Amino acid sequence: MDQFKQLVENRHAYAQSWKARTGGKVLGWYEPYFPEELAYAAGILPVRLLARHEPDDRSEKWMYAACYPARDILNQFLKGRYDYLDGMVTVEGCQWMYHAFESTLRSRPEFWNHYLFLPDYTDAPTSKTVLRSELQVFQEKLEAWTGRTVTDADLDWAIEVYNKNRLLLRQIYELRRAQEPVILGSEMMHLILADQVMDKAEMNEILERFLEELEQRTPHRDCIRLMLIGSETSDAALEEMAESLGANVVVDELDTGSSYFWNNVLPQKDRLMALALRYLGRPHNPIKDNNWRRRPQHIFELYEDFSADGVIIAKQIYCHLHGTDNYAVWKLLRERNIPYLFFERDTTLPEEETRLRLESFLTVVRQGATHVCGWHKTLA
Ligand code: SF4
Repeated sequence: MDQFKQLVENRHAYAQSWKARTGGKVLGWYEPYFPEELAYAAGILPVRLLARHEPDDRSEKWMYAACYPARDILNQFLKGRYDYLDGMVTVEGCQWMYHAFESTLRSRPEFWNHYLFLPDYTDAPTSKTVLRSELQVFQEKLEAWTGRTVTDADLDWAIEVYNKNRLLLRQIYELRRAQEPVILGSEMMHLILADQVMDKAEMNEILERFLEELEQRTPHRDCIRLMLIGSETSDAALEEMAESLGANVVVDELDTGSSYFWNNVLPQKDRLMALALRYLGRPHNPIKDNNWRRRPQHIFELYEDFSADGVIIAKQIYCHLHGTDNYAVWKLLRERNIPYLFFERDTTLPEEETRLRLESFLTVVRQGATHVCGWHKTLA
């Protein structure tokens, strides 16, 4: 499994070697609703921009008091870590990520870029036609950039590769439902993060081999089963800490975790509409979960399906999206007597404080207590 952790750590080198091997372009993307299939169909490698935990001595001039993932990505751009990228794209979403995108462009105006509009009201009657027309514009722009026409056959191929990738991830993920799972939460998180920075056709081969390896593994016994929800992350530090205390994160609802691959594209003759429906129908993060409020119920279903014993909510400091949505999530968890622990995290986890709080929480969960932990119980 070390291979996945290493892939995440060496992602810049991987993208550069991919470029040298294939002669293709590499496109960085910021927001979880980015329809990668379209870029992949044009022969481009889409890579998710992830934070890296490097000392940030550059971004403050451009962004003040923003969340750590947005600041860190900008910091990496300003340090030249992403110099190999040929372009970047963002999708209508979180304002901090947009701020990072815009600041990068101001510092690097020569970058090819695109801003893709995706309606916030994903289930409004007009949303699918609006997004379909946005995808059409994006496709034409990609064609002009690469000098290559994206055919239906290209789109079918890209959709097939991505659907297979999601299926493989799902197969591995489902193994965590077992009472004694063969895969740890930290391993799974590294795997999903690696998936987001790699060529999916190459990753599919690795995942197929990995599935076979998993059959030979010894299960992890007697772990407290946890669920992890909250803001995106770029590492598995929290999962590793839980494992060192006798717990295992068996399910998550993160944009950088299960939400990334949870639903497939359902092929149809109108390929762009098929893509539009997939991205409008994926598990929503707070900014897109407006009309019908599907997120709390999705969290609860995952919690039940994976037989979790408690929930960790980890929010990035200054993440206004999750800060606002947490009230609905806390309400749901309290109503259903689900124990939970709330953290805020910044560049790195404060090691001792986090360990102490997690340890206390696990003691409560171990005793089968079903009450709310932490200062926010006063908000009940
Ligand atoms: S952590 Fe929150 S505020 Fe920061 S980019 Fe992600 S969604 Fe936006």
